[in-house]
Amino acid sequence: MDIRIELTQNPKAKPTDESKLGFGRIFSDHMFLMNYTDGIGWHDPRIVPYGPFMLDPACMVLHYAQEVFEGMKAYRTADGTIQLFRPYENARRFAASCERLCVPQMDEDMFVEGITKLVEIDQDWVPYSPETSLYLRPFVFATDEHLGVHASKTYQYAVIAAPSGCYYPEGINPVRIYVESRDVRAVRGGTGYTKCGGNYAASIRAGQIAEDRGYTQVLWLDGVEQKYIEEVGSMNVMFKINGKIITPALTGSVLPGITRMSCLELLRNWGYEVEERLLSAEELFDAAESGALEEAWGTGTAAVVSPIGEMAWDERSCIVNEGKIGPTVQKLYDTITGIQWGKLEDTMDWILKVTK
Ligand SMILES: *Cc1c(COP(=O)(O)O)cnc(C)c1O
Repeated sequence: MDIRIELTQNPKAKPTDESKLGFGRIFSDHMFLMNYTDGIGWHDPRIVPYGPFMLDPACMVLHYAQEVFEGMKAYRTADGTIQLFRPYENARRFAASCERLCVPQMDEDMFVEGITKLVEIDQDWVPYSPETSLYLRPFVFATDEHLGVHASKTYQYAVIAAPSGCYYPEGINPVRIYVESRDVRAVRGGTGYTKCGGNYAASIRAGQIAEDRGYTQVLWLDGVEQKYIEEVGSMNVMFKINGKIITPALTGSVLPGITRMSCLELLRNWGYEVEERLLSAEELFDAAESGALEEAWGTGTAAVVSPIGEMAWDERSCIVNEGKIGPTVQKLYDTITGIQWGKLEDTMDWILKVTK
């Protein structure tokens, strides 16, 4: 790809206190842009100074949400190398999301090359402190100026980068979650398996209610029978029941997480029996009450793993592993973050180095 590069004349001051980075509030100096026009294809790949878009008020995405995004991180290792974790998996999922939303797909190499080039240019924005990273947000949206409901003929693709702090500055503390029995996130035949903005819009109300009641995350039930466990917040979810790992199957309404896939590969390598299947809230709470539920955790790029210490569902509630982090989730965290930050050997071939 022939990427045009226009460097900023006004570099921003980098955050001096990396313990105050938080997540997704500060952005690097540049962004990667590319456009799509029907009949021409993807064109004009460029890296330009970070800044606002000018959009026509009739811009299609503002009305019908034809939009898709991804989320991944660049990590700085002890020897200064900057690296990505399984970026081709993000490229594949981005293509699958685009297909569902009728957004033109882009070549996987093109997707990875744009991200790699941006990280290379903004490499000083990858923070240095332990467990920090540069969060990368590729996204694409419909730009036709037209109020008709159909696939747009033009699109804007962009990648922005946000230096992000350590997710667990106070150590890993298990969270309280709330099983949502009114709102659903995704339905059969819908867009649940895609990373599209619309899925998130539908999830905000339940998240707010859970927060008001003192819970950190929503545990979603399926949108058809409202009976089976799907995901927790914006993470996939796993349970250890009687020594076995059980996680909801990818039925179409569950997002196929790359952290989920990585955890399952590790767990199978470690000799665990892993079941990807339907798991009802009733089975889960029965297992918790009988003492069979040993550990529960969410998985996702932001937190890697997030142990669940307490769950509530209508009148039922339970404590998991005495509200403490369990050995399986701790081992997953240590292994995945060890590979990401280059402290462990990349035996799974998951790393793509951006700088040497
Ligand atoms: C992104 C996302 C996940 C986690 O996916 P990762 O690839 O592991 O980051 C899980 N659920 C939802 C709804 C998501 O959007």
